[in-house]
Amino acid sequence: MAINEQMVQDIVKEVMAKMQLQKDEPAGKQLGIFEDMNEAIAAAKEAQKVIRTMSMDQREQIISNIRRKTKENAELLARMGVEETGMGNVPHKILKHQLLAEKTPGTEDIVTEAWSGDRGLTLIEMGPFGVIGAITPTTNPSETILCNAIGMIAAGNTVVFNPHPKAIKTSNFAVSLINEASLEAGGPENVACSLRHPTLESSNVMMKHKDIQLIAATGGPGVVTAVLSSGRRGIGAGAGNPPALVDETADIRKAAQDIVNGCTFDNNLPCIAEKEVVAVSSIMDELMNYMLTEQGCYLASKEEQDKLVATVLTPKGLNRDCVGRDAKTLLGMIGVTVPDNIRCIIFEGEKEHPLISTELMMPILGIVRAKDFDDAMEKAVWLEHGNRHSAHIHSKNIDNITRYARAIDTAILVKNAPSYAALGFGGEGFCTFTIASRTGEGLTSARTFTKKRRCVMSDSLCIR
Ligand code: NAD
Repeated sequence: MAINEQMVQDIVKEVMAKMQLQKDEPAGKQLGIFEDMNEAIAAAKEAQKVIRTMSMDQREQIISNIRRKTKENAELLARMGVEETGMGNVPHKILKHQLLAEKTPGTEDIVTEAWSGDRGLTLIEMGPFGVIGAITPTTNPSETILCNAIGMIAAGNTVVFNPHPKAIKTSNFAVSLINEASLEAGGPENVACSLRHPTLESSNVMMKHKDIQLIAATGGPGVVTAVLSSGRRGIGAGAGNPPALVDETADIRKAAQDIVNGCTFDNNLPCIAEKEVVAVSSIMDELMNYMLTEQGCYLASKEEQDKLVATVLTPKGLNRDCVGRDAKTLLGMIGVTVPDNIRCIIFEGEKEHPLISTELMMPILGIVRAKDFDDAMEKAVWLEHGNRHSAHIHSKNIDNITRYARAIDTAILVKNAPSYAALGFGGEGFCTFTIASRTGEGLTSARTFTKKRRCVMSDSLCIR
C-alpha cells in the first residue's frame, strides 16, 4: 500500500495523542481549552455572538465537519477513552463514535411551527439559549461531548464543558476537534470550551454564572441533583438500572442473544444497557441455557457471586476499578480463569441481590425468576428504582408490552431487540448520549437546546 500525505498526518496525529496520554500536559495546542471557568465562559460567549449571525447553511457546515472529524478520529478517540479511563472496549467505542457522527440530528432538527388564517400568520421559532454549560461522564466521554456539541451548535448555541476529570484528555481532544471543525467551516474558535483541570468547584462556578442560560448534566444522581438545585434551568440525564423482562411468548433463543449483545456492549457502560433480567419461570431455564451454550455466558456459583460482591462493591459504592471491565477480567479478579469467548457473567438471584439491584456498569447479569407476567412486571418496576430511564422487554404479547410500558414509564422501552436499538443502532430513530430521564426531555437533540419564540404578523401574510 502506497503511503500518502494523509496517512502520514494520521500517524503523526496518533503518535502525538499517545504521547499526550503519557504526559500530564497536552503535546500540541488544543483549541478551546482554558485554565479558568470564567475565561472559558467569556470565550464561548464571544463565539456565540458570531454563531448567531451565521446562516443555517454555515452552521450545518460546522456540523458536517464535526461528523467527518468524529469518523476520521473514531479509532483514536476510542483508544484514548479506553486507555485513559480503563473502561469499555475499543471496537464498541469505535461503533459509538460512528453512530453519533451519522445519526445525531443537526440543523434539520430545528423546525418552525406555523398557524395561518384570517388574522394573519404566527410562527413558533426555535432560538438558541446562548452559552450552555454541559457536564459529561467518564463512561462515554468523547461520545457525549461530540453528540452534545452537534445538537447545541446546530441550535445556535455555544457550549462550555466541565468534563469528568478522569476522562479529561479524551474529552479535551474531542473539544479541540469541534473547534477545528468550526474554524475549517469559517466559523469562530471556542464554539466548544473546556478546562485543563475541571473540578467540582469549576462546575459550581459554571452553574452559578450569569452568562450560562442552560445546564445539561449527563451522569449519576449526584450531578443531576446538583444541577437541579442550582436555580438554573437544567436538563438532567441521570442514572438508570434497566431491566429486561422476558415472558413466555418471546422468541427465547433470540431474547438470549439480544440481551447478552446489549448487556456486553462497551462492557455494559451505556446507561441504557441491560443491567438485569426478569424472566417468567416457565421459560427461565431455557433462556439461561441459551445464554450459557450459545452466547458466551459464565454461570457464577454462590461462592463466586459472594466474591464478586466483595470485589466490585465497596462500602462507599462501586469499585471504580471494576466498572466497564470485561467479564474475563472481572472473573480473573476473583481467581477464576475462563476462555476468551466468555463475555458475560450470569446467575439466578433475588431482586434484592446487590449485584442485581445496583447499577453496576459491568457485564454481570443477574436473572430474577418470576412466577408469571404480573410478578415479572412488579419486580422489573422495583428494579428500575423509579429512575424512569430505560427498560426492555422480549414478548410477542402486545397487551403485556403495553401494560409493562405503562407500569415502568421509562424514557426508553426497547421491544425484542438489544438495548442499543434505542440509540438508532439496529433500530429506527436518531442517536443521543444524553437521555434526559429525570427532567423529562427524553432523548435530547438540537431542538432540546432551544427556546421557543412566538412571532406574530397580524392580519397579513395569510395568502390562502
Ligand atoms: P458521575 O456522576 O460520577 O460523573 C458525571 C459527571 O458529573 C462528571 O463530570 C463528574 O465530575 C460530575 N459530578 C459528579 N458529582 C457532581 C456534583 N455533585 N456536582 C457537580 N458535578 C458532579 O458519573 P460517571 O460514572 O461518569 O457516569 C456514569 C453514570 O452516569 C451512571 O449512573 C449512568 O447511568 C449515568 N449516565 C447517564 C446518561 C444519560 O443519558 N441519562 C448517560 C451516560 C451516563
